[in-house]
Amino acid sequence: MTRPQTRAVQAWAPPPPASRPLAVPLYQTSTFAFEDPDACAEGLHHPDRGYTYSRHSNPTTRALETTVADLEGGAAALAAGSGMGAINAVLLALLSPGDHLIAQRRLYGGTGSVLTRLAERFGIAVTRVSCADPGELTAAVRPETKLLYLETIANPTTEVADLPRLLAAGRAAGLTCVVDNTFATPILCRPIEHGADVVVHSATKYLGGHDDVVAGLAVFGDRELYRRVWRFAVDLGTVVDPFASWLVLRGLKTLALRVERHCENAGRLARMLAGHPQVTRVLWPGLPGHPSHDLAGRILDGYGGILSFDLAEGLPGARRFLTRLRCAELATSLGGPRTLVLHPATTSHRELDGAGLLAAGIGQGTVRVSAGLEHHEDLLSDFTQALKA
Ligand SMILES: *Cc1c(COP(=O)(O)O)cnc(C)c1O
Repeated sequence: MTRPQTRAVQAWAPPPPASRPLAVPLYQTSTFAFEDPDACAEGLHHPDRGYTYSRHSNPTTRALETTVADLEGGAAALAAGSGMGAINAVLLALLSPGDHLIAQRRLYGGTGSVLTRLAERFGIAVTRVSCADPGELTAAVRPETKLLYLETIANPTTEVADLPRLLAAGRAAGLTCVVDNTFATPILCRPIEHGADVVVHSATKYLGGHDDVVAGLAVFGDRELYRRVWRFAVDLGTVVDPFASWLVLRGLKTLALRVERHCENAGRLARMLAGHPQVTRVLWPGLPGHPSHDLAGRILDGYGGILSFDLAEGLPGARRFLTRLRCAELATSLGGPRTLVLHPATTSHRELDGAGLLAAGIGQGTVRVSAGLEHHEDLLSDFTQALKA
């Protein structure tokens, strides 16, 4: 019989094989023990040959990666500690000094600043193009162009990228095509079907869906590309914690149901706002006058849970509206159960000057809304009371 000190650290034994857990267990372990020294050595160098150390791979995280790869129609996925972790792992693994990258003009703020700093610090040139015009993209291609970077639905203008035509142009030029699909989720759009090589997500938003976890994913159309980025991400340490993976997996079970309600509530708010005298513009792809309305109808299976609108009184009008809301909360982030509002000009896009804001389609009176899961009548009456002059 071993001593108490020894028994205390050896208490756990595998469960009997007669039953199995219905939910994916949380493997909150940093490392894995082996019987066979060769298997231990192998596992460290291949993502698919057993688990050795949780910076390289972990069973809970692998369950998340496999599920999201399947939803996106990809061959494999790599989870990261945040959306920016996934995006940086992809960019840094695939680009070298002297390379050139083409990105759409309207990008998530964090990605926009990464691209600026990539250019400054790593000698990677960046050209910004429209997300509606494949001709502008083709004209921007140089011999050293390696990568095309797009977003399915832009923040906060909800402009939809013309994925079929832009990805065809990118592929024709031999570029690795990366699409940030955070706003659409694989429920509304699967960019790999349109020719993307890599799809990235902030799982912090709709995939996790409960405002309680920060995580990211990159999904790959092909395993070779996945292995290249995995190898680099292991060195970079962009790993996600197993508990965060577990929370995102739990969120995924209701993703389709939640997205349906997010879209429905966004539509009800957009239509109410479009008829309101204090509102000068409403941007939601489901409205017939939206610049991407027809395209969205063709490539999205729903118009999304994000909308933005402009108040006639500009900044003072927006400030008054934001402070009067009761049901909706003023907060950054999106895609959770609570309806969130944000003032992009002073928060997510504050680094932009007047011309930059104009180019991004943002005014001083612009408010972004992430429609939540509340009853629509409660949301509509809250917005209506907050808009009263
Ligand atoms: C939030 C977000 C990111 C960054 O994700 P984090 O999880 O916050 O690192 C990237 N792209 C889009 C479109 C986002 O909304």
